Parts: sequence; C-alpha cells; structure tokens
Amino acid sequence: MNITKTCLVVILSSIYSLSALGQHNPAAHTHGQGHMTLVFESGQLIVELKTPALNMLGFEHQPTSEKQWKVLDVLKKRLQEPNPILELKPSCQLKSKEIDVPYSGEQAKTARSPHNEHAEHHADEDHKGHQHAEHADIIARYEWRCKTSEMPKINVGYFAEYPGFETLRVEWVVNGKQGVNLLNSRNSTLDIRQ
Ligand SMILES: [Zn+2]
Repeated sequence: MNITKTCLVVILSSIYSLSALGQHNPAAHTHGQGHMTLVFESGQLIVELKTPALNMLGFEHQPTSEKQWKVLDVLKKRLQEPNPILELKPSCQLKSKEIDVPYSGEQAKTARSPHNEHAEHHADEDHKGHQHAEHADIIARYEWRCKTSEMPKINVGYFAEYPGFETLRVEWVVNGKQGVNLLNSRNSTLDIRQ
C-alpha cells in the first residue's frame, strides 16, 4: 500500500513537472475547468481529479443553507463510488480511493445551524470579503486493478451530471507513452489505445 502510494506520488510529480515546462499550468484554478492525471501500467490504473469546487457544488464557500449542505453531502457520497460517473469499459476493480472535499471539517460542522435563513444572513455579513476571495478545489484519487494490460475506455459523466463542469484536461501516461486529451460534454469518452 505504501509502495503504491509512493509510486503514485512520484509519477504524478513527474507529470506535474513535465506540464510546468509547457504552456499550461495544471494547478491553475479556473472555473469550469477540471484537471486529471492518469497513469496506467501493467493493469494498474491510477487517476487523480482536481477541480474547482464550484464545478461540482455550484458554489464555492462554506454552505449557508440546508440545501447547500445537502448538495455537499450528496457529492461526498457520489465521489466515494466513482462508477458510473467514471465508467470503465471493461470494468476494473477499485482498490483504493482518497477524496478531499472542502467545507467538510469539524469547523464546518459546528457552523451548521438549524436557523438557516438567520445563519445565511449573518454569514454573508460577517464573511463577505472572505467568502468571495477564497477558492477551493475538490480532489479525488482512485486506483483500480484491471484484468488486462490494455487501457480501458473511460466514459466521463461529470459534464452531464454537473453543468458547471465544462472541460476536463487529462494528462496521461499509458503503458509508457504520454499525452493530453481535452474532454467536454460533446466528447466525454477517454479512449487511449496503445
Ligand atoms: Zn474558485
């Protein structure tokens, strides 16, 4: 497990440094745009998604209403199980996952109030500058074990499910080769054949 994680970090770091040499900065936070790094080697598939929280939540601040808390809860559950929003064909076995969604900490829980309208009103007043200045990202990492050494196709459902999610830039290393694919609602299948 530790060895796998170390490998992932090394591989992802090398992808990021390679990208830093190019024109695109994969760490940039631009609303509507998500980034994915993908490594497939010897049947092992590792994916890291990084997206502005706004793309999937529809807001980018601590929830201020019961409706927004519900959206946050639903998203957290949805990300725990990548299928069918990341649908692998043929399917592979999910081995591990790591989800990092903002506004989920202890502080956020204590801020939850039954007096929603009141809380919303005060939150807006007290933290106006803070709320609008700070951006937040959602990060999801998944690792699958596939039966064959051929990279599966991936149907990406982010665009259909989350209207704020416009484009996904996928930087991949598949069986030793590397490249970049840009996905959107009209082109939402990642098909890398080696
Ligand atoms: Zn933002």
